[in-house]
Amino acid sequence: MTTAPYLKPLPDISELNRPFWEGLQRHEFLVPKCRDCGDYNWVPYPACRSCLSEDQAWTKVSGDATVYSFTVIHRGHGQFNQEAPYALVMAKLVEEPQACIVLGNTRGIANEELHVGMALRIVYEDIVDEDVTLWRFGPR
Ligand SMILES: [Zn+2]
Repeated sequence: MTTAPYLKPLPDISELNRPFWEGLQRHEFLVPKCRDCGDYNWVPYPACRSCLSEDQAWTKVSGDATVYSFTVIHRGHGQFNQEAPYALVMAKLVEEPQACIVLGNTRGIANEELHVGMALRIVYEDIVDEDVTLWRFGPR
């Protein structure tokens, strides 16, 4: 949990994405799942990428993932620079059949430990005084 003021951009919460952000506050990661073909769709989009159905439901996933790819960032703007070097991971959720790649930063993993295929778990970071929760990837 962060105690210093949070100085990075915060999410733009709308009626369309509110279920996702409310899920994070409950420490649940929700992904739109197509009611027609069963595929998960990340990033959220009004239509399923597999079959174009607009009948999707926010569905809780396990939070388990593996590293698909990653990079380590050594410079950034403003508050991001304070955390450099930090990792940005493309994590593949374990849910099937359609693989979802979710971007995120890490917590509790040294940049040098990261490798493709590494087991991860989504962890939640409650942002004090902002009434918002963000996700990160931690070790599994
Ligand atoms: Zn579909």
